[in-house]
Amino acid sequence: MKDVRIRFDRKSPLQAALQTRVDAYFAENGLNPKGGSPLIGKAIVIGLWLTAAYAFAMSGIGGWAGLLLGAMMVGMAQAGVGFNIMHDGNHGAFSTDKRTNLWMGRVLDLVGGSSYIWRQKHNVMHHTYPNVVGSDDDIDVGGLARLAPAQPYHPGYRLQHFYMWILYGFISVKWNFYDDFAQLIRGHLGGHRFPRPKRGELVYFFVAKALFFGWVIIAPIALFGLAKGVAFYFVEAFTLGVTLAVVFQLAHCVEEADFTDVPDGQVTELDFAEHQLNTTVDFARGNPFVTWYLGGLNYQAIHHLFPKISHVHYPAISPIVEEVCAEFNVPYRINGGFWESVGSHYRWLKRMGQAPAVAAQPVTA
Ligand SMILES: [Zn+2]
Repeated sequence: MKDVRIRFDRKSPLQAALQTRVDAYFAENGLNPKGGSPLIGKAIVIGLWLTAAYAFAMSGIGGWAGLLLGAMMVGMAQAGVGFNIMHDGNHGAFSTDKRTNLWMGRVLDLVGGSSYIWRQKHNVMHHTYPNVVGSDDDIDVGGLARLAPAQPYHPGYRLQHFYMWILYGFISVKWNFYDDFAQLIRGHLGGHRFPRPKRGELVYFFVAKALFFGWVIIAPIALFGLAKGVAFYFVEAFTLGVTLAVVFQLAHCVEEADFTDVPDGQVTELDFAEHQLNTTVDFARGNPFVTWYLGGLNYQAIHHLFPKISHVHYPAISPIVEEVCAEFNVPYRINGGFWESVGSHYRWLKRMGQAPAVAAQPVTA
């Protein structure tokens, strides 16, 4: 296992300027950086969407077609819960109240993932080390593909730009049944250990897992029998997996992003803000539906610089950040529309699936 040691400078002039200017924006406009009522409104709409989609799927209306259509709507709504509610909650960005953030974060457990593991995997590992091989769980697909130049090449990756789209669909199945349990037992992610959950956290983990499996598998089987019940689960999980994976990949795993390989066991010094900006790409910023549904994850650079600020503020903050970046001569990476970014991810997968000599790509360190 790779021994990644990076010392981040979190007090660089760039970081200080970004912080000062964004703080000034909130002070001058008398705004609270947390989600507040706009986010509560979104959470209610998405909660109703999930409930209505599930009620429709479980109503039996439309036979097989109704069930599978309902499962897709449930999967899309679950992704909406993830992007908008649990993500802000787990970052402490939903509200100024700590308990509200904790419980909004814990909503994740009810839609299939452990919020405890998420806070380690996402808040700590992914946010500290985006695109760092050996530390960012999001670019580690267990040897099924090569997503970064520093990962080992295998001729079997030749067609990864086709098969990965299918594999993305199975990410949530693996997450539901394997990842959370295995990571809880191991107590480490990549080479990094994380603290053991306290008893209350552990009880919540198992109770919420039981509730999740209850509504997503046991209830559909009880209502419609084994075949339809299992089909509901797989279509729901596949829709959710593809949606989550594509959104995460478009922000980091594209031609426009840098990937970082650091020497094994040696301490590497990096500017924190610059590293986030180099490894993160905004996309589809002019699309209000994408911005609404993705919980601002299309303004990913802003999210990585200010994860404790709610996503409802990202569109307003981005011009300020871009201005500071221009002053410091640090590129702020922006892709085109949603489908252009999908194309960029496809081309990146294709390039990484070729032998390294063919796909010469500068690797930052
Ligand atoms: Zn995040």
